[in-house]
Amino acid sequence: MNESVRTKYREALQSQGARMTPQRAAILEAVLGTTEHRTADEILEAAQKIDPTVSRATVYRTLTLMVETGLLRRLDLGRDFTYFDPNYLEKPNHSHMICLDCQKIFEFEEKELDVCEDKIARQLGFERASSFVRMEGRCQRLKKTGSCVEKTA
Ligand SMILES: [Zn+2]
Ligand SMILES: [Zn+2]
Repeated sequence: MNESVRTKYREALQSQGARMTPQRAAILEAVLGTTEHRTADEILEAAQKIDPTVSRATVYRTLTLMVETGLLRRLDLGRDFTYFDPNYLEKPNHSHMICLDCQKIFEFEEKELDVCEDKIARQLGFERASSFVRMEGRCQRLKKTGSCVEKTA
């Protein structure tokens, strides 16, 4: 994680009258110290490994703040819970492919898709602000072996 992200985070906290605390530093690490798409509960767990005093309420409040200030994107993949995506700062136009079986999330970027979306927006008289492409399919392992979910004995 680079220093400008930390600075943005600190500024986001300050704009809400909040200070950088060890708990909020742990949350930052749990969210943006990874490229993984995590749920709020997974973020809570990761943050508590760094600082056991992190509370659920602080995690939820901080995630909302991070989404509102553009550090983090809430990702609705059509499941019962939402993921938080830390990769939008570096790759603002990336999309997701999700395996129907193991639910693994693969990211991709495609310039032509981008061009195509701009074209559609123009045709509809819009200026494109953001877009979200979600594809679902069968991952390599599922195709090859018929199953890709880890079986626990
Ligand atoms: Zn992503
Ligand atoms: Zn799979």
